[in-house]
Amino acid sequence: MEQLHVKHEHGSYTVSIGSGLRHTISEHLPKSYRQVFIITDSNVAPLYMDDVKQSFPETTVVTTYVVPAGEESKSLSVFYDCHTKAIEYGVDRQSSIVALGGGVIGDLAGYVAASYMRGVDYVQVPTTLLAHDSSVGGKVAINHALGKNLIGHFYQPVAVIYDTASLNTLSKTEWRSGMAEVIKHAWIAHDQAFLDQCYSIDHFEDVDKDLLNSLILQGIAVKARIVTEDEREQGNRRFLNFGHTLAHAIEAEMGYGEITHGEAVAIGMDFALKVSESYFDCSLNRMNFRNWIMAHGYPISVINHLDQHELLHRMTRDKKNVNSEIRMVLLSKQGNPQVVSFTKDEIRNELKEYHK
Ligand code: NAD
Ligand code: ZN
Repeated sequence: MEQLHVKHEHGSYTVSIGSGLRHTISEHLPKSYRQVFIITDSNVAPLYMDDVKQSFPETTVVTTYVVPAGEESKSLSVFYDCHTKAIEYGVDRQSSIVALGGGVIGDLAGYVAASYMRGVDYVQVPTTLLAHDSSVGGKVAINHALGKNLIGHFYQPVAVIYDTASLNTLSKTEWRSGMAEVIKHAWIAHDQAFLDQCYSIDHFEDVDKDLLNSLILQGIAVKARIVTEDEREQGNRRFLNFGHTLAHAIEAEMGYGEITHGEAVAIGMDFALKVSESYFDCSLNRMNFRNWIMAHGYPISVINHLDQHELLHRMTRDKKNVNSEIRMVLLSKQGNPQVVSFTKDEIRNELKEYHK
């Protein structure tokens, strides 16, 4: 097992990473709780809920709530249902919420914890590769009909317990989605070996376990370092949005569920590399990255069919942007991210490559 520590405004928490940790959740918590309330989804519950329940001592009251799998559960109504269950079960401020699942559950259960009784402890138990990213850093949110993640908070977990063995049941699409955020961390890190390790994988689902553990650890270390420096996204935390300006526009334009977050981020990174190369007049070996995303089946061609005008419009509406400029995270070289603002016309010009 490996451990990393994340500092924040009110203290710190430990991220524990290892195979089989779901069987020993209570051992990795900073204290014992009278009750734990596990929130999970309908795909994860039959796979891992029993193991997590049984990992608590008999003296702990364990209550559970299973929400439908998928992005739709990051809604006000499911959020409200979680509160209803918490009240019915007598969850109180001596209790802890356990977010058992991918990024959807982490964001939802984390926001329930942030708001229930003005805040109760919560623990992230991520079960997707993508959640190596979403479970660390304390951004929790649900969606509004007018936009994703618009209702939320910065609210830090008391622990992140990442059982890498739970990734064995992920679908090919979820591997692809999660690996995009891993390689994003490699691009932001000043570490060629990390990027080369990502490039060395032939099939994500059969990746060597030691290599996978090493990639997850490095990815979380990058995220942990950045969120420790900048908890509330006033500065360097924005670098984590590498590839996300276009990705958010693609996701919104296609409809969530039509493409995964990570798949959209991979396309967004390809675009960010292209813009970086022309803006800084440098080479980032974009072709290697393109070959990698094509070899792993990232659906890069979807962008050819999306309406360029709509994409641009959505990029200017991104909540990270001020006025109507489009802000992108670019790299002057690997590990050297910078935020650069563009006009709509400049980005339109760069997008032409995809719309010939
Ligand atoms: P997800 O939680 O929907 O999980 C993807 C799918 O995999 C779901 O169908 C889920 O039921 C299933 N699943 C989960 N674990 C499994 C397992 N071990 N075996 C088999 N199936 C499993 O999605 P995700 O990709 O993990 O996360 C996406 C969400 O994360 C988005 O809502 C996004 O906004 C959010 N996010 C948040 C942050 C943050 O910092 N808070 C960062 C990135 C993404
Ligand atoms: Zn992301």
